[in-house]
Amino acid sequence: MKNFGRSEKLFEEAKRYLPGGVNSPVRAFKAVGGRPLFIKRGRGARIYDEDGNVFIDYVCAWGPLILGHCHPQVVKAIKMVVGQGLSFGAPTELETKLAKLICEAMPSIEMVRFVSSGTEATMSAIRLARAFTGRNRIIKFSGCYHGHSDGLLAQVGSGMTTLGIPSSPGTPATMISDTLVAPYNDFQAVEQLFDNYPDIAAVIVEPIAGNMGVVLPKPGFLEHLARITRSYGALLIFDEVITGFRVAYGGAQELYGIYPDLTCLGKIIGGGLPIGAYGGRRDIMEMVAPSGPVYQAGTLAGNPVAMTAGIETLRILKTPGIYDRLEKKSSLLANGIAEVISRLKVDIQLLRAGSMLTIFFAREPVTSYETAIKANTGLYAKFFHHMLSQGIYFPPSQFEAAFVSLAHTDEDIEATINATKKSLGAVS
Ligand SMILES: *Cc1c(COP(=O)(O)O)cnc(C)c1O
Repeated sequence: MKNFGRSEKLFEEAKRYLPGGVNSPVRAFKAVGGRPLFIKRGRGARIYDEDGNVFIDYVCAWGPLILGHCHPQVVKAIKMVVGQGLSFGAPTELETKLAKLICEAMPSIEMVRFVSSGTEATMSAIRLARAFTGRNRIIKFSGCYHGHSDGLLAQVGSGMTTLGIPSSPGTPATMISDTLVAPYNDFQAVEQLFDNYPDIAAVIVEPIAGNMGVVLPKPGFLEHLARITRSYGALLIFDEVITGFRVAYGGAQELYGIYPDLTCLGKIIGGGLPIGAYGGRRDIMEMVAPSGPVYQAGTLAGNPVAMTAGIETLRILKTPGIYDRLEKKSSLLANGIAEVISRLKVDIQLLRAGSMLTIFFAREPVTSYETAIKANTGLYAKFFHHMLSQGIYFPPSQFEAAFVSLAHTDEDIEATINATKKSLGAVS
């Protein structure tokens, strides 16, 4: 048995000063019970908690740490730039460098605006789409999370599903009355919405969903969205905050060959520091202030330290063959888990897109939020704690993706498969 005494003490203290003891809900372990671990440091694929326990980390800061913790090249670059000043609120060359890397990686992005979180990226992209089209309504999909801005906080998957609340108090009906929600992968529902409301400004979608657990787009789904938005003069927005530079260097849009009008980014492009970005067609992006009238600003946007972490991360990710390496590690893990599952009497759907994967304790295929929530969260909670006791840190919710990083070694993955075997054996 591991000792979590110090984490428990720190959590009690934290709860006196921070709502729920945390600064983002899913960290509190509400979905799996027990108390969160307080992390002291990380290195490579490992994190170390305040009680001195070591874990192989599959949360990876919820996605940004595709290189693992403390990649030497990233740390070195950050140390250098920190010595030159933390923020200026004036242009730096670093912003153009990162913007250029992003535009080169994703040809659908001709110009980009940096913000400080994914929430700001999607919120601003929606504002821009509304200004560009002169329309108000948007379509989102149940189970897709696009940050916590009022208009997008409708049926958002993981965080709120975990807490069992359908919508958040404090978001007046008027703020979400222009948000239409369709089931993921249900193209007919989208057609129906366009039929009823031809004046839709934009469709926003996670091209591979990661916030209800990993859910893949059905063949043709993204094509359909591209076609229908074009024919109605609406914009297609890909929220690639997770998938950008994760499932391929050029994101899900490269993987599927479907190019949206606007793209939202975050997580990996900041290498672990706070960041977000939105970008796309030049004629649309030029409407953003000060080049156009759509207002959007940020005191710390384009922060030199975050830009540097992003630049170094993308430079490393540009190395030829690196996504093949990541795929090898990820398929090693997924195949190992699949083999374990095949020997057990437990209903599991293993979903994976590259280095993001979810073990759903579900009998039926998971293709949407409506099918995802049929998963047995009680079993997942047991599985999670068994894994934790064996030194494997999986996401503390059934409805989150686990992430493989380039720092995970074959031995780490072997150990994870063995732990999975024991944990699934214990819960099945
Ligand atoms: C994490 C996430 C966001 C929100 O980003 P924050 O930086 O947490 O505000 C938006 N969209 C998707 C798809 C995400 O996974």
